[in-house]
Amino acid sequence: MGERFCYRCGISEDEGGPLIDGLCQVCFRKENPVLLMENEINTELCQNCGSYKKGGVWVDPRSYELDELIFEVADNALLESISLEERVKDIKIVGKEELEKCENLEVGEALISFEPVDWHIEHFPAIITYEIDVKARIHELQRELHHEKKEVVVYVRQTICPRCQKFLGGYFEAILQVRAEERKLGREERDEITKLVEQKVDEIMRRDRMGFIQDSIELEEGIDFYMGSTKAARKLAQAIKERYGGSISEAYQLIGQDRMRSKGVHRTSVRIRLPKFVKGDIVRDKKGNIYEVERIDGKGMELMNLKTLESEHKDWKTIKRDDVDTVEHEKMNAMVTSITPEEAQFMDMRTYETFEMEKPKMELKEGEVYPLVKVKGRYYVRKKRD
Ligand SMILES: [Zn+2]
Ligand SMILES: [Zn+2]
Repeated sequence: MGERFCYRCGISEDEGGPLIDGLCQVCFRKENPVLLMENEINTELCQNCGSYKKGGVWVDPRSYELDELIFEVADNALLESISLEERVKDIKIVGKEELEKCENLEVGEALISFEPVDWHIEHFPAIITYEIDVKARIHELQRELHHEKKEVVVYVRQTICPRCQKFLGGYFEAILQVRAEERKLGREERDEITKLVEQKVDEIMRRDRMGFIQDSIELEEGIDFYMGSTKAARKLAQAIKERYGGSISEAYQLIGQDRMRSKGVHRTSVRIRLPKFVKGDIVRDKKGNIYEVERIDGKGMELMNLKTLESEHKDWKTIKRDDVDTVEHEKMNAMVTSITPEEAQFMDMRTYETFEMEKPKMELKEGEVYPLVKVKGRYYVRKKRD
């Protein structure tokens, strides 16, 4: 058998082999480069929200600090543009040191490291030059690994993402209407609910970028939140219901005609109606028990029975079943003027009228003033609150 030579450079197989497809080791690597990337990459970030495209979808950045954000966007664009010879099947991104140390790889394996070597990020487009380093093996007869370096320039431009285009254009998909049953929403409730909604929206926006609040409008009876997504409006209504109780309903309003599909375009109103009860309300049930509302939440109400002075929790189902409803009453302060084993005598602090009542199930002190409530001609002593 005669000696073989590299057809490209003429070196003998003894010296430069083993030959691969007729090429010496060096020529094989030269003829089959692994790093096939472009020299320039263009990418963009949203100037309104900092989001950028990752895997084809707009995502929020990890960092909102502008320098870090620009590098985050550029790094991502670089990683997404990595293109290697088709025989490379397994790519690992590593640090420069690990790459330097690596001397052997399986066929089809590659290590890549990259680092910025020069950048101008004071204004847009931001320009970052990266040095990319790759080691790879694509043939089992390779004595030495491919080791290639390349400089790639990434341009980061500003744009407005589709979500922000809609947001800035005043777009909304649904209205979340926060109301209360048979009453107007109180000031404190409004503040609490607005806070809850803002917290919840932050959470929702992590998954649903359209879940923004376009606007909120204070009305006499409640608050309207103009929302970027119906799903988000529903989630908020649910969150409010879990905290305060109430009922949710939806209505659809025809707002126009989609001529292309000759279909009506609808807008959803999601309405959460809070219970009519508020803390401190005096209520009765169908058995005639009188209660003071102590606490309200998503599950039901904590009610203080004004006769036994014991608290009980009734869930919303029970409240409905027992016909719990507000009752006409009069609140007053009265002083204990005398106590007998069965009765207590009080004096109304406004009118100075005195009256007797069955001694309540709590300890009373002569000369002290207590909050009372009069319901249907009967007096009840309420527990003092701070
Ligand atoms: Zn050669
Ligand atoms: Zn945006």
